[in-house]
Amino acid sequence: MPAPLLLANQRAVVTGASSGIGAAVAREFGAAGASVIVNYRSQAGEADRVVKDIADHGGSAFAVPADISKPQDCERLFEQAVQQLGGVDILVANAGIQRDAPIADMTLEQWRAVIDVNLTGQFLCAQHAVRRFRSQGLDAKRSRALGRIVFINSVHQRIPWAGHANYAAAKGGLKLLMETMAQEVAPEKIRVNAIAPGAIRTAINKAAWETEDAQRSLLEHIPYGRIGEPEDVAQAAVWLASDLSDYVVGATLFIDGGMLLYPAFREGG
Ligand code: BGC
Repeated sequence: MPAPLLLANQRAVVTGASSGIGAAVAREFGAAGASVIVNYRSQAGEADRVVKDIADHGGSAFAVPADISKPQDCERLFEQAVQQLGGVDILVANAGIQRDAPIADMTLEQWRAVIDVNLTGQFLCAQHAVRRFRSQGLDAKRSRALGRIVFINSVHQRIPWAGHANYAAAKGGLKLLMETMAQEVAPEKIRVNAIAPGAIRTAINKAAWETEDAQRSLLEHIPYGRIGEPEDVAQAAVWLASDLSDYVVGATLFIDGGMLLYPAFREGG
């Protein structure tokens, strides 16, 4: 008898799912048996492609537009998720942006844009997810948990990043948002965790891998000797959202090819 799919009967919302890590998570969730809301802000065509890929592989998915930094949009996102899927069991809070600038040149607009999406937006979606989980109640046939939230954070929740103060500040804030929420809602059997990717080949860091020179210098930071692919993160997200990780609460899984291991210290020190 084939093993049951890891996310069979699960209903998931994935934010920022029209490209990069979010798109890979949506596809991987679809393949693992979940029905998926493919949230996007502006890339409707790309989101439709992700939905179609999932459907072509026998899964079920719906594209829903929402700018997750806007409270009304988040509300609508969850309303539509409930309408389309009948409920929500998993949130993958993935949407994120960069607006890089040296600290003295960073505009308030750049600062706010990143905090609004990468921190406030994650908070808003997580809040809706918790409310939704509570109103649904535990369904032991579906999962051992009342609900699961996976935040997509970054190695920059730990590694300071010159020229990206808004991004690092948001990611550092997200770390304690995740841990505080996890502590707060674990007694209700809501599991809150995070994945912190390193350099994953997506549009957000294209400049870091598109030329040979850039790639060479990026690889100096990665002991494992390759850039990550979105699937490296997506496969871990399936596990973290499934009952296989039922005792994992408030954890951050770093998926970074060893970026956090201070590779410069292989020599000297
Ligand atoms: C950033 C990427 C960067 C990676 C490693 C990610 O969070 O979005 O631009 O390549 O961290 O530094």
